[in-house]
Amino acid sequence: MTEYWNWARTFHCRPRLYAEPKSIDSLRSLLADINETKSKIRVIGCGHSPSSLAMSNEVLISMKYFNKILEINEKDMQIHCESGVLIRTLNETLPQHNLCLPVQGSVNYLTLGGVISTATHGSGIQYGSISSYVRSVTLMKLNGDLQEYCLEDDEDLFRCLTCALGTFGIIISVRLQVSPLFYMELNQYSLEFHSLLNALPSHYSSSDHFRYMWYPHTNSGVAYHLTRINPRPISHKTSVFSRIFAWFRYSLIGHHLCEFFFYLSLYVPSLVRPINKFYAKLDGKSQHKIDRCDKLFNFDCLFRQYASEWAVPLDQAVSCLTELQQSMEVHRNVHFPIEIRFSKAEDLSFLSPAYGRQTCWINTVAYRPYGVDHSLHRGFFQAFEKICLKHNGRPHWAKEHPLKQEDFVQLYPHWNLFQKKRQEFDQNNLLINDCLQNIF
Ligand SMILES: Cc1cc2nc3c(=O)[nH]c(=O)nc-3n(C[C@H](O)[C@H](O)[C@H](O)COP(=O)(O)OP(=O)(O)OC[C@H]3O[C@@H](n4cnc5c(N)ncnc54)[C@H](O)[C@@H]3O)c2cc1C
Repeated sequence: MTEYWNWARTFHCRPRLYAEPKSIDSLRSLLADINETKSKIRVIGCGHSPSSLAMSNEVLISMKYFNKILEINEKDMQIHCESGVLIRTLNETLPQHNLCLPVQGSVNYLTLGGVISTATHGSGIQYGSISSYVRSVTLMKLNGDLQEYCLEDDEDLFRCLTCALGTFGIIISVRLQVSPLFYMELNQYSLEFHSLLNALPSHYSSSDHFRYMWYPHTNSGVAYHLTRINPRPISHKTSVFSRIFAWFRYSLIGHHLCEFFFYLSLYVPSLVRPINKFYAKLDGKSQHKIDRCDKLFNFDCLFRQYASEWAVPLDQAVSCLTELQQSMEVHRNVHFPIEIRFSKAEDLSFLSPAYGRQTCWINTVAYRPYGVDHSLHRGFFQAFEKICLKHNGRPHWAKEHPLKQEDFVQLYPHWNLFQKKRQEFDQNNLLINDCLQNIF
């Protein structure tokens, strides 16, 4: 392979060796060769991280063939899966056993290994990231040894392995706590940004999985209240007319026209505000829907984009968002949506950005219409990073950020412990790439 690109085509690498091992033995012999040459390696899932986190110019190992669900234990509601299994596969298979993932992010083309390595999250103040549901991790160490780790064996080590950024070894399989299958009832409506800030707790606590999409440069946004309900028969039959309408509304206007508008805005930045306003109006139409949970957890993230996301302590969210809005008086081309989500304080992963504190996640994107590279978002992203850092924010591990080791030591109470454990597994820093070398 000459080049490997991430999903957004914002980062790429030219691995000297790219491997897709199909068995434990082939993976082990690959590691034996790598150990001799002391090459740097990274493991890749789906390559969805909008950063260079998973990139390597030396050895890149894809786990795409480690994609089996090994066991579904309906009684204990636990599953055991290989790390390359797709969230999409779990969403299709688990409901056949009356089970489902308790939380998930906005897209399903991600691997289990990838999501637990970066503490991928959804929204819900009573729920943690996917890492918080891990019950064991089977790891192949750099010397080829294979071992299953769980909390009971070594608490500190396990709290490292549940969100380890691929720095301890190769995750072969994961045991995960899952939920009884649930459906959700969606109440979606237009909600002014200031009204959200004035009543934030009543929103994030009044439904199970509340999220808010803000249309920057406007006072508009859309509230999504998602409430868990029991599974029920649902008809997905649609008339020809409603299929044509859906294509017109979501594909033509929602996607293609939007991409074209943002393309024009690269040359005429003053267009961004009217574009955001137009889509706020369109998306703000009230909707009520019932569906299987994954169908409402996942949503269309439109097209390729730069992304920056921070986890801010919940009690600082209003101040942070207010300051963010003020910064838009200077930075005038911020794309919609700014996504605002919530999660509970976690204790199972030392490096989860929600470790030890209830969290408000703030995600900003800058589209790359038709794949165009640009840097128009840089000024705003830098202001965003500064504001979040000032509010004790921690960056999402999968996304771009400018922080260094000294920042993380301040932000994570167990940073040094994680670092010590990591070095026990990787004395020669073979699992540390350019993206991580400023951190570890
Ligand atoms: C459109 C889009 C929407 C997104 N939505 C959300 C969201 O709603 N919430 C959220 O939190 N995040 C979100 N993300 C980020 C995404 O969840 C993470 O980037 C996730 O890690 C990607 O999974 P992946 O399988 O592509 O992993 P990759 O990007 O391939 O890898 C991520 C990390 O996992 C490591 N890794 C992967 N597999 C293994 C393994 N077997 N052993 C050891 N290490 C491994 C890699 O080395 C790397 O460090 C989104 C990203 C995109 C592009």
